[in-house]
Amino acid sequence: MDGDRQCATEHHPPSTSHRPAGPGVARRAGAHGTADAPRLPHAPLQSPMLPATMRAARLHAYGQPLRIDEIAVPRPAAGQVLVRVEGAGFCHSDLHLLSGDIQTLPKIPVTLGHENAGRVAAVGAGVTRVKEGDAVAVYGGWGDGTCDYCVAGEENCCPTFQWVGLSQHDGGYADYLLVPQERYLVPLHRLAPREAAPLTDAALTPYRAIKRALPAMTSDYPALVIGTGGLGQFGIKLLRLLTGGEVIAVDVADDKLATAREVGAHHVLNSRTLGPEATMAEIQRLSPGGVAAAFDFVGAEGTLALALGSARKLGRVVQVGLAGGTAKLTALQSWQPEVNFSVSFWGNIKELREVMAMADDGRLTPIPLEFHPLEAINDVAHRLEHGQVRGRAVVTP
Ligand SMILES: [Zn+2]
Repeated sequence: MDGDRQCATEHHPPSTSHRPAGPGVARRAGAHGTADAPRLPHAPLQSPMLPATMRAARLHAYGQPLRIDEIAVPRPAAGQVLVRVEGAGFCHSDLHLLSGDIQTLPKIPVTLGHENAGRVAAVGAGVTRVKEGDAVAVYGGWGDGTCDYCVAGEENCCPTFQWVGLSQHDGGYADYLLVPQERYLVPLHRLAPREAAPLTDAALTPYRAIKRALPAMTSDYPALVIGTGGLGQFGIKLLRLLTGGEVIAVDVADDKLATAREVGAHHVLNSRTLGPEATMAEIQRLSPGGVAAAFDFVGAEGTLALALGSARKLGRVVQVGLAGGTAKLTALQSWQPEVNFSVSFWGNIKELREVMAMADDGRLTPIPLEFHPLEAINDVAHRLEHGQVRGRAVVTP
């Protein structure tokens, strides 16, 4: 199987001369006015190097472990790209789907995995910006492409979202991933795909959240990061890259706080040991009057209260984590005047390109990563659920 996969990508780059009926050829003929053109959307991809089937870790029922099935390798139609997955980051939101806390999938079984990168294995007709063998990261917040959010570039906000691995579209916990548009691919120049995979969510999401808060940020006041898992760790790194202020990190686990310090936090506070009042008092001691911006990567009742209570006047509070807490905003009581509260949601393609540019040239360095074969995916879920993943776990099909 491994040999087949390598054939599909690196060792035998298919030549168009070996697939005269291929869609790429047909398109060029069509452009010159032949009768080929109307058949384009249905033209089958001629790529004998692709295996017929692949492994895919699929959700068959909420509350059940993922099952590794042997399913057909999808063939890219016009405009589509097939990616040989080399890395798929395991995200906390997958745990919500596995447990059934979130039951939003329009079809089951479905292959999960929304933090993906790999190499282009095959392209459909009309794909021009990537070619077979290219290393790419996959933007995952797919939309319908036509609504006002999508045309404004805020595709992650599309009301009819079609997110990879979180909708009807199968995700990257599989040997191959079908990407419906080449614009969702960000070429990688230096980064290995399996290192790049977590950037598509775990770095992109804090990046957007921090960009929202930049107007309020100053070198005179620290930023607060609550929750120092994968997203929080990238959040700390990005704050160090993009702002001049110090970073205070809060978590309930000392090992996570040790990692937070390693990735750049100036101060770390264990809110479980300290308790909520002492945590708030310590933040005020470190930043009298409050922090410039507070980022809540947890989103529970207590963390939202801490974030809102910590921001200074004209500051920003950005909720990223979706643990189900309610933000209670009582003017002059639970928060300072002029504090701006928002919920930030993943990121858009432009923001992913910006994140990748910073990572590909070495400015944004990786958080601690661990790599696991696809067969170990349910162990990965277990490790994440029990707080045993130090940074990000990446499945490498
Ligand atoms: Zn849309």
